[in-house]
Amino acid sequence: MTVTTTQPDPAAGAAVKAADRAHVFHSWSAQGLIDPLPIAGAEGSYMWDYEGNRYLDFSSQLVNTNIGHQHPKVVAAIQEQAGKLCTLAPGFAVDVRSEAARLIAERTPGDLDKIFFTNGGAEAVENAVRMARLHTGRSKVLSTYRSYHGATAAAINLTGDPRRWASDTASAGVVHFWGPFLYRSPFHAENEHQECERALRHLEDTIAFEGPQSIAAIILETIPGTAGIMVPPPGYLAGVREICDRYGIVFILDEVMAGFGRTGRWFAADHFDVTPDLMTFAKGVNSGYVPLGGVAISAEIAATFDKRPYPGGLTYSGHPLACASAVATINAMAEERIVENAAEIGEKIIGPALQDIAERHPSVGEVRGMGVFWALELVRNRETHEPLVPYNASGADNAPMAEFAAACKERGLWPFVNMNRTHVVPPCTVTETEAKEGLAALDEALTAADAHTV
Ligand code: PMP
Repeated sequence: MTVTTTQPDPAAGAAVKAADRAHVFHSWSAQGLIDPLPIAGAEGSYMWDYEGNRYLDFSSQLVNTNIGHQHPKVVAAIQEQAGKLCTLAPGFAVDVRSEAARLIAERTPGDLDKIFFTNGGAEAVENAVRMARLHTGRSKVLSTYRSYHGATAAAINLTGDPRRWASDTASAGVVHFWGPFLYRSPFHAENEHQECERALRHLEDTIAFEGPQSIAAIILETIPGTAGIMVPPPGYLAGVREICDRYGIVFILDEVMAGFGRTGRWFAADHFDVTPDLMTFAKGVNSGYVPLGGVAISAEIAATFDKRPYPGGLTYSGHPLACASAVATINAMAEERIVENAAEIGEKIIGPALQDIAERHPSVGEVRGMGVFWALELVRNRETHEPLVPYNASGADNAPMAEFAAACKERGLWPFVNMNRTHVVPPCTVTETEAKEGLAALDEALTAADAHTV
């Protein structure tokens, strides 16, 4: 794709930044320590700043621009909808909402045929948990330590990563357990088969000690994303499904990050032939052009609320602009074989290139992933798996990762970096040429990480 960047205008960039620093309160940040980069525009897999620097976006922003920036069909659909009807309360039937729900239900696995729309992923998780509690009449919800489920009250408490710590008591009834992760096996397993068996036994033990009659739901990311793109071993998700069935526990799969093409299939669950009772989605459903998320609901759980009301709702549930952008996104993905592109680029270009990079860079401990959903686990010591930076590092402790990220940016690559990992998560539309350009920059930048190995 030929990308036309706007003319450099450093003075305009400085004004944008000054206004940002005066009035914008940023997520997850110490407000006095941040230096946000003013962005002038974006198209396809690229964005550019006011100084004339262009960046290939290997982060897809927050792993959501699955069809890249400014896809003309989606932009046109939003403009057209804005001209017709900008907003309508959720209680009415409206063409774009009905069509978005139909297109999503057609693609979700099994009988997940009813769609409750939200404004994003965390609200989807909140509502899925609420539905599970109302459906079962039970209260506890189990989630894994290595997980991210959002930043609202219940969602942040379900989240396993350290961002939960500040709000640990936000939602009662959350119990954490360990999911499978062979590279840092909580079960000291030596192979995937052992990891799977031991992880399932650990889950059964957790349920036994918590009391199965008190557990409403188990929520898992199909492939945990933010926590490290840890593809579960064969049999694990089927095993969890079987345990949920045995104890009457609702199985929730969180596909907010892994869904809508990211793994090279419409949903990550498609790779594992597993159907949950509830499935959350957001991000890729419309590439984040307008905030949108939702819950896909099984026939059995939907039936719970056939004669009794579901006591939940949002002013903007199924917002027409968001739904119009979802319809256009899903149709464009199908027409332009974008999901297939993600699978092919992953299999032919990214996977093999990352394996090759891992062989040449001592800082790369492991490569994991599929589609356009890959992680490099960076380590100080390949033998011991000691991470390149300590868990939850900040400031000077985090210098090796900060140096690596800076080396990427100097080479025109915008990386996704979290703790001791970098994730290779470009848009699903990424071309072979773009993927190779980004991988070459990554290869060079990893030398900065290698300098910290022992
Ligand atoms: N679940 C998962 C798996 C996610 O990756 C995220 C966002 N990174 C969320 C939920 C929360 O989504 P949002 O930020 O749209 O609330």
